[in-house]
Amino acid sequence: MCDNGVRYIHTQEQAKAELERQRQMAKARRARRLERTAAGHETARITKQNRIQNDLFHIDNITDAHKIAKIRLAQKERDLECSAEERDDVLNKIHERYYAPHVFSLMSFRLKELDAEFCDLQIREQQWPEPLPDVKPMYKKCVTQIHTLARNIVCASCGCIHHDISEFKTVPDSFEHLRRLQIPLDVDIPFDFSCGIDHLDQNRILIDKLGITIDNQIRLYRYCYN
Ligand SMILES: [Zn+2]
Repeated sequence: MCDNGVRYIHTQEQAKAELERQRQMAKARRARRLERTAAGHETARITKQNRIQNDLFHIDNITDAHKIAKIRLAQKERDLECSAEERDDVLNKIHERYYAPHVFSLMSFRLKELDAEFCDLQIREQQWPEPLPDVKPMYKKCVTQIHTLARNIVCASCGCIHHDISEFKTVPDSFEHLRRLQIPLDVDIPFDFSCGIDHLDQNRILIDKLGITIDNQIRLYRYCYN
C-alpha cells in the first residue's frame, strides 16, 4: 500500500484506516501544540514574576494600599482630636459673644431697631409712588441760590474772590486788627494804595479797595479774619 512515500488506497477499509490514522496524527499535533502553549504561558508567568520581584521600583499595589490606608487612618484620628479642640474653642467664643448679658441686651435693642426700620419700609412701599414735590418752590429756591452765589466778594486783606457772603466777616474800618496790614515807612510801594478811608491811608494800612462796602465796612474772608 505504501510505495516511495505514496499511499495507494484500493479498498474502503483502507480508506477508513487512512482517515483514522490522519485523525490520530491531528489529535497528537493538537496535544503537542497545547502542551507547548501551556508551557510557554507558565514560563512567561514565572519570568514576569521574577522580573517584578527583582525590580526595586515596582509598586506593590496591595501592600502600598494597606500602608496608605493606615497612614490616612492615623491622620484622621489626629484631625478628629484637633477638630474636637477647635469645636470646644468655637463654642466658648460663641458663648462669650452672644450670651453675655450686655451683648444680649444690645441684640434685643438692635432687633427692635430693625423691626422699626422694616415697618417704616413697608409703609413707604405702600405709599409708593409718592406724589412729586411742587416744582415752583424748587425753582424759586434754585434761582435764589444762583443769585446769592452769582457775585464776587473780595477779601480786603488778601484780595481773593469768593461768592458766599456767609464766608465773610464784615468789620468797621476802625477794626483794631487792621493794623497788622500796616506797611512800614521804610518799605516803598511803587503805586498808590490809598483806599479812600482817611485814617487807614494815614496809617499806611494796605487793603483791597474792592473789599470795602458802600458804607465803608471792611469785608474779610473768615480765614483772614481768624
Ligand atoms: Zn483774605
